[in-house]
Amino acid sequence: ATSKPLNFLEQIIKQDLESGKTSKVITRFPPEPNGYLHIGHAKSICLNFGLAETFGGECNLRFDDTNPAKEELEYVNAIKDDVSWLGFHWAGDVRYASSYFDTLYEWALHLIREGKAYVCHLTADEAREHRGWATKPGKDSPYRERSVDENLTEFEKMRAGEYDEGACSLRAKIDMTSSNMNLRDPMLYRIRKQSHHQTGDKWCIYPTYDFAHGQEDAIEGVTHSICTLEFADHRPLYEWFIENLPVPAQPVQYEFARLELNYTVTSKRKLKQLVDEGHVDGWNDPRMPTISGMRRRGYTPASLRNFCDMIGVTKSGSTIDVGQLEFCVRDDLNNCAPRAMCVLDPLKVTIRNMPDAEVQLMTQAVHPNRDEMGSRELPFSRDLYIDRSDFTEDTSLSRKKFKRLVLGEYVRLRGAYVIKADEAVKDEQGNIIEVIASLVEGTVGENPPEGIKPRGVIHWVDANDSLDCEVRLYDRLFNDAAPDAGDKNFLDVLNPDSLKILTGCKAEKSLASAAVEQAYQFEREGYFCLDSKLASADKLVFNQTIGLKDNWAN
Ligand code: ATP
Ligand code: MG
Ligand code: MG
Repeated sequence: ATSKPLNFLEQIIKQDLESGKTSKVITRFPPEPNGYLHIGHAKSICLNFGLAETFGGECNLRFDDTNPAKEELEYVNAIKDDVSWLGFHWAGDVRYASSYFDTLYEWALHLIREGKAYVCHLTADEAREHRGWATKPGKDSPYRERSVDENLTEFEKMRAGEYDEGACSLRAKIDMTSSNMNLRDPMLYRIRKQSHHQTGDKWCIYPTYDFAHGQEDAIEGVTHSICTLEFADHRPLYEWFIENLPVPAQPVQYEFARLELNYTVTSKRKLKQLVDEGHVDGWNDPRMPTISGMRRRGYTPASLRNFCDMIGVTKSGSTIDVGQLEFCVRDDLNNCAPRAMCVLDPLKVTIRNMPDAEVQLMTQAVHPNRDEMGSRELPFSRDLYIDRSDFTEDTSLSRKKFKRLVLGEYVRLRGAYVIKADEAVKDEQGNIIEVIASLVEGTVGENPPEGIKPRGVIHWVDANDSLDCEVRLYDRLFNDAAPDAGDKNFLDVLNPDSLKILTGCKAEKSLASAAVEQAYQFEREGYFCLDSKLASADKLVFNQTIGLKDNWAN
């Protein structure tokens, strides 16, 4: 509903609809279930599902499960969760490339019968050597001119498990001298003697990405098959299959620039390494750039979708500042996160002019400018906590520099009274362990009398009626803006201080009913949500979603 100019894919689709080339847009999001989805995948999801939404079409969720060695059901389920959580609905049931294995096998036979594919027994090394390189034409495999019958027999033997992994493969017969390496007799089928999470032990030969992808698109009637730029060189091969096979539709491949974020790695292989080597607490560690990690951290679907919208879709790559993602998170949470108070480093405050057993209830809006979110009641008694960093005895600090509580001066407790710090109580080592204060009568929701000038507003909780909690503060997982650039090892630039655990924090009582992943603004501290993995009925653990301001901005 914005007047943003159309991106290049929107322009293409609009034209295809107008010219009648396309009657209904069908796109697909085709993850390989070999890991959890990351922020880069979110861009592809928003793009593919977004185009279908914009143009009244449909988007399929298709698992590109052609390599059983690296794939697992756990990943299938996590990916479905992530796509749904982002708020997208795939058309019909989830699809699997593996459910087309019979058809793909038939089409392999078709190519063999047409003299366009052959079984090759070169070893991987020999095949590489025959392939040549960009400036050196390849040479034909000695197996290239086998008869159709021999190829049919050999391919059947491959399928029947008579050859070991790596012993042979089925290759397309295209052009060993092509300037496009992908056309130098690419592999169509390889032997993998592994159980598959969907097809079990039915197959021991599996199609390659190239042989599978476009044909899957054709089977599903995909009109616009959108992938990242690395696949631009594969497009001629994609088209070769569509031309040379009896496919039911003519999908077209388009490429866009993949999302790269600074301070982040977006490669499933590397993220898996972080998980497997225990550098993080699983795929959904709140520091991970995975969708499930960001979700556990309190990021919202809207913030990710807004981010993908903001960065747009282009044909040339560039690295996006992770600050832009954080901006979108902060922006959305500022609008929708309920407010609460939590004291991270509690210092006891005793209100001397408040009777011992008295409890007053302070009414506070859940959100400062969204009345429909209602209000909450904060108990206020003689015993309170404020944050240690919000009190000082140093009276020389200027009012501008220190807008908090200073010995002998006034501050407002958010939503409650103006108080004055009368005395700092210390232990034997001289550490301040308590502040004795007095409240100024009649200052709840009212200005203090003439002459009393609070330095600022600080947050607090009632000491007798608050909740103990643990708070986890996060910083970037990597210290380096380009953790995996060049020959850098991303493990060498892990930030050792990316997780800080605070215990003994004190949260306002209303947070007892906090739902996991629901971010709150802890006043003056930032956004936090209950951890979905570590919190339990008798232990509250909050994750810092993001600070109130960008600490990295300079
Ligand atoms: P990775 O390199 O992390 O393993 P992949 O491309 O191998 O990613 P797939 O599961 O094949 O992972 O990806 C599914 C879809 O998501 C593909 O269409 C792919 O192009 C897209 N995608 C993956 N990474 C990005 C990215 N960083 N930016 C945009 N799209 C991406
Ligand atoms: Mg892939
Ligand atoms: Mg990959």
